[in-house]
Amino acid sequence: MKQLRTVRGVQDILPAQYKYFKAVVDTASLWAERYGFKAMSLPIIEKEEVFKRPLGETSDIISKEMFTLENRDKGEKIILRPEATASIARSFLQHGLQHNLPQKLYYWGPMFRYERPQKGRLRQFNQFGVEFLGVDDPYQDVEIISLGYNLLKALGLENDVELHINTLGDTASRSAFREALVTYFQSVKSGLSEDSLKRLEVNPLRILDSKNEGDQKLCQQAPKFDAYLSKTSKMHFDRVCNGLKILGIKYIHKSNLVRGLDYYCHTVFEFSTKKLGSQGAVLAGGRYDGLTSYMGGQPVEAFGWAAGIERLMMLLEENKTFNLKKERCIGVIPLDENAEIPCWKIAQKLRQEGFSVDILWKGTMGKRLKKLDKANVDIAILMGEDEQSVNKVMIKFLKESRQELASIDTLAAFLKI
Ligand code: ATP
Ligand code: MG
Repeated sequence: MKQLRTVRGVQDILPAQYKYFKAVVDTASLWAERYGFKAMSLPIIEKEEVFKRPLGETSDIISKEMFTLENRDKGEKIILRPEATASIARSFLQHGLQHNLPQKLYYWGPMFRYERPQKGRLRQFNQFGVEFLGVDDPYQDVEIISLGYNLLKALGLENDVELHINTLGDTASRSAFREALVTYFQSVKSGLSEDSLKRLEVNPLRILDSKNEGDQKLCQQAPKFDAYLSKTSKMHFDRVCNGLKILGIKYIHKSNLVRGLDYYCHTVFEFSTKKLGSQGAVLAGGRYDGLTSYMGGQPVEAFGWAAGIERLMMLLEENKTFNLKKERCIGVIPLDENAEIPCWKIAQKLRQEGFSVDILWKGTMGKRLKKLDKANVDIAILMGEDEQSVNKVMIKFLKESRQELASIDTLAAFLKI
């Protein structure tokens, strides 16, 4: 029979890699909580409407990356979520959280996008994200970017990434800029790629984001957003830049950073790396003041970001400077059959006292010790006939080639020292 394998573009995360996954999620949760964010969990399936308007029909995600399912109940379409910011806004309105502002929320979990699979680009991947709803001050944009920065620093990755920022201004600035772009790109239409010709019709801003070389050349001569930014938009962006300087966070202003989604305004940013080929973005987001109004709610000022957990894992795995938290583990070895049950009870007691314990039931002494050594365990507890007769165990300190008899009753206290 043919070997069963995962679906294209999705992956198992085995323990050797999962430790990095856990390190990312644990470190990110710790830092999010340090900034006052509260964890929440969202469903993986949502109605299509949750994403369609907010992300924009012409965005890559909506136009070509959705995983759609049929809900048999009503024949309605549901989708596997491609991201969670729109789900957060949906949830926020559904539960009336707009009456209790501000809200600082964080989440993590799988997202689904029908993309061409490559290293660092999967069809099922995981994101860790934070969303701050009910904030208008540009310094708060900086506050949330600094959370991303601190997370990357805590993971030892600050030298692997660059922070790119840009502003998309307010709605009025964006439509003035859009008009200027259309006029310009119409005049050089013959040089545009097929994709960008389509973008010219539906979302000309996204031409600036094109990876096509010809497009990129034309973009250099294109009108610059700066000239079309309203006074308030400019002030907002200046304050963000100033805030980053205050906190000593280095950034590069990239005027072609537009991000693909309709719901963004003002500040957009991306921490990106050169180490993962064209899958450079590791943590990205921005301001999305209008998102709730796409869903029929009052507009709520908001800022958030999401990080790609698999991409961070890959950087961590390569980097090696990050110290994975190692839980102290103890090995328990019954030396004969009579010692098995007492050893089992000892293991039970130690686990209840907070130790991680592995019982090595069978095998030669050498093999069992080798196994512990491989797992980097430094303490083994041995019990044979002699120890059992005096209600004691032998504690072997594997890294120090030293051993000591200890009483079973006071074992936990002894090991805690
Ligand atoms: P990209 O430009 O690489 O397609 P994106 O702008 O589509 O990224 P976002 O929607 O901003 O990505 O998602 C936030 C983060 O999630 C990204 O910065 C990236 O780290 C991660 N991510 C996005 N798509 C994928 C994917 N298909 N596989 C793995 N990680 C992903
Ligand atoms: Mg993408």
